Amino acid sequence: MKYDVIIVGAGASGMMAAITAASHHKKVLLLERMDKLGKKILATGNGRCNLSNAYMDENCYRGQRPSFAYPMIEEFGLEDLIQFFESLGMLVTEQNGYYYPASLQATTVVDTLAQKLKHLHVDILTEFEVTKAEKRKSTFYVYGNDKCFQSSNLILATGGCAQPNLGSNGSGYKLAKDFHHKITDTFPSLVGLEAEGKYLKDTSGVRNVSNVSVYANNELIAKEHGEVQFTKYGISGIPIFQISHFAIEALRRKKKVKIYLNLMPQMVTLEETTEVFLKSCNYKTVEEFFQGFLNKKLVYAILLRLKIDPRKPVAQLSRKDLNRILDMIQHFEVEIKGYKGYDMAQVTAGGVSTKEIIQGTLESKLLEGLYVVGELLDVDGTCGGYNLQWAFTSGYIAASQIGRQ
Ligand SMILES: Cc1cc2nc3c(=O)[nH]c(=O)nc-3n(C[C@H](O)[C@H](O)[C@H](O)COP(=O)(O)OP(=O)(O)OC[C@H]3O[C@@H](n4cnc5c(N)ncnc54)[C@H](O)[C@@H]3O)c2cc1C
Repeated sequence: MKYDVIIVGAGASGMMAAITAASHHKKVLLLERMDKLGKKILATGNGRCNLSNAYMDENCYRGQRPSFAYPMIEEFGLEDLIQFFESLGMLVTEQNGYYYPASLQATTVVDTLAQKLKHLHVDILTEFEVTKAEKRKSTFYVYGNDKCFQSSNLILATGGCAQPNLGSNGSGYKLAKDFHHKITDTFPSLVGLEAEGKYLKDTSGVRNVSNVSVYANNELIAKEHGEVQFTKYGISGIPIFQISHFAIEALRRKKKVKIYLNLMPQMVTLEETTEVFLKSCNYKTVEEFFQGFLNKKLVYAILLRLKIDPRKPVAQLSRKDLNRILDMIQHFEVEIKGYKGYDMAQVTAGGVSTKEIIQGTLESKLLEGLYVVGELLDVDGTCGGYNLQWAFTSGYIAASQIGRQ
């Protein structure tokens, strides 16, 4: 039997593609290497599945062609995704611009998609890893588990290689390469950054709302704001995830990457306030004085880095040392030496080059009937629902094109 379309990978993009193609009365086979569908979706949004965001623009997506994804998101975006899930009986709720299933349970998303796949009689095989695919004449031959299936169209929806324990083990790159597609440099993104410095053992565990400025060879390359988490290995947290793509890209180009944290971004009158406090609180030690401003561990780390005795009376602090402390509060330097791996990353940056994929249909420019969707492509979104929106959008776009045939 020959299918209209075989879809490799039952993640967000693959399940959306299967539902869309089957809704167009196409005969669909969905192949998944894990024992269950949508395992990664279950881990998203801390188990709540942050599936999209109210704020959407071109800058939310990265890749060698950053403008590749956005026109398609405009075609099938937040409102379409909400309508899609509502048509499947699942309500979507919004919290501060972030969208989740109303149950606030990622399992509802997977269950809802699985119920529709069953209702549409989509053929599904789990624990089926596709190891090879080829096209001869007008037919795709898809191999795995000592079996071979045939189809008129093939959608690669295998994801990248972030968190391989959830299924996406990078095998999609090989499948795409076998069809002569180029893969751009791939690396972990939305991930913590490793730093060097004795202070790290003192600051580990601190969470501090900061302005984050990233410099590569002294040139400002990215800025963010939010709660930075200090860890034993370096820095993490949402603002660090957001800039991680740019920092890691620079590191991979052998650039010197430094991050400067303004640890008190809300305090625009820091110097003036310090002067006022100095008059009324000159009975304190330096450490006690600045603990009124900042987390104790950060104060200790700053004084240690500046080699200023924490127990010194603040009244005896020289003007020069006072200014050095204030400067470090506003420009806390973190020298970035590395980054965490795929096992801790939320997405893979890089992937199948979008230069060889038709924008608007996601069909290969190299081979008719071949489509590449989701994280497997050189498209990665920022934190906040952008990657799932892209996965759903791209699955929908590719399968709609097949549906029109
Ligand atoms: C911990 C974590 C939290 C996240 N939170 C969010 C969030 O809240 N919001 C958000 O937008 N994004 C989030 N993301 C990112 C988002 O989950 C992914 O970008 C998105 O799921 C990618 O969808 P996909 O369909 O392209 O790939 P995947 O979801 O990775 O699915 C690919 C599927 O293909 C299967 N597969 C791979 N190779 C083969 C093969 N050879 N044969 C058969 N099957 C194969 C895999 O087993 C997998 O099931 C998070 C990611 C992680 C890891």
